[in-house]
Amino acid sequence: MYNPKSLKAEEFINHEEILDTLKYAEENKDNIVLLKEIIEKAKLRKGLSHREASVLLASENEEIINEIYTLAEQIKKDFYGNRIVMFAPLYLSNYCVNGCLYCPYHLKNKHIARKKLTQEEVKKEVIALQDMGHKRLAIEAGEDPVNNPIEYIIDCIKTIYSIKHKNGAIRRVNVNIAATTVENYKKLKEAEIGTYILFQETYHKESYEKLHPTGPKHDYNYHTEAMDRAMEGGIDDVGLGVLFGLELYRYEFAGLLMHAEHLEAVHGVGPHTISVPRLKRADDIDPDQFDNGISDEMFGKICALIRIAVPYTGMIISTRESQEVREKVIKLGVSQISGASRTSVGGYTEEERPHDSEQFDVSDQRSLDEVVNWLIDLGYIPSFCTACYREGRTGDRFMTLLKNGQIGNCCHPNSLMTLKEFLMDYASEDTKKKGEALILKELENIPNEKVKEIAKDNLEKIENGSRDFRF
Ligand code: SAM
Repeated sequence: MYNPKSLKAEEFINHEEILDTLKYAEENKDNIVLLKEIIEKAKLRKGLSHREASVLLASENEEIINEIYTLAEQIKKDFYGNRIVMFAPLYLSNYCVNGCLYCPYHLKNKHIARKKLTQEEVKKEVIALQDMGHKRLAIEAGEDPVNNPIEYIIDCIKTIYSIKHKNGAIRRVNVNIAATTVENYKKLKEAEIGTYILFQETYHKESYEKLHPTGPKHDYNYHTEAMDRAMEGGIDDVGLGVLFGLELYRYEFAGLLMHAEHLEAVHGVGPHTISVPRLKRADDIDPDQFDNGISDEMFGKICALIRIAVPYTGMIISTRESQEVREKVIKLGVSQISGASRTSVGGYTEEERPHDSEQFDVSDQRSLDEVVNWLIDLGYIPSFCTACYREGRTGDRFMTLLKNGQIGNCCHPNSLMTLKEFLMDYASEDTKKKGEALILKELENIPNEKVKEIAKDNLEKIENGSRDFRF
């Protein structure tokens, strides 16, 4: 039976409820009165239920679709302004004991080069990332209790935080590793991670079991209940995601929103972020083998609908997507993007992009400076801010900040100060020129006069060599 408050996977992601939702959405997709009512509700910026959002997803009415896009853009502007937070993935190890059919790191892949970074190699990778200007990482690893135990992950986190190369520093480490125990989540919390990210891959239990035929990841319930264990372990920023292309997107969309509703119902705080990865070509993986790929257009609609259904949740897009697609979805609601990513173990210390241990093909292959330059041209502020969790603004405290509209006096100046650091330490001449002009213009958009004065003062201090200011 469907129960968002239950701690059992099959009750909070209830198959029958999803099927009923899809039926309800199909029956009502031309019900213009209902569609308009849902749009009106979305305009209150308090989100939508999985049923309401699913009806909008099913609608093919052009007027309604345009309203969805306009509203998503507006909500994005109101809640996130024009800031885009930057990060990079860091692959620690591709040893993996699972049999995921869509991932080249699966156990049976005998020709992919298996690598696991030593702490010395982690250090080199981090220095390379710091030299680009990155301040925020998402660490990635395959699941392998012998090669990648939690102690190894914790050691890597400690190494990453300890490295201060020139003016560089990694100030936030998010973690994307396999579902684990409450005890291990506590250890991650103690190691001061930012967000714990775990993609559900698919919410469809039967497909999930087929797609994960062997290894610990086969256990659907254990995987689906991971965020509850993470919360129990004290991690209150968690990141959801599905791998679009594995199952029917309408099913995944309803499941994703039900998962968000469940976290809110049980823990009083929804997901900190939602990622929207799409299946990509990789070593021995051909995405065409899976029948559920979605067009760029549908992908855009899904992003817009996530934006209006969960306005307080950040949305992440990786370099799996091309520059063109990224441009489109940033406008519709994405608030965080990766830049200059390498998805191979040890990839940042190589001159050329290595392919032998890559997890998937990267579509957007530009350098971080190029991505920053491009964002500025599009009118966005590339932000390297990591202040919230360092100030203890996680979970519901972060949400309160967002809900009280204090973002303008907090995130906005923080984005300008961290961009300034990037311009001083890592940017090309052209990016620097454009960035300085942007900062001058955007300073005027800080609502509180006192905050504005402090921000100006800090920018001057950064110019003179000081670093790491935050509100
Ligand atoms: N191994 C960890 C786990 O079990 O959750 C997570 C790390 S894995 C490096 C990160 C994510 O990459 C996976 O959760 C999956 O969604 C995604 N991924 C795997 N194969 C992919 C492919 N061929 N194309 C795009 N994304 C892929």
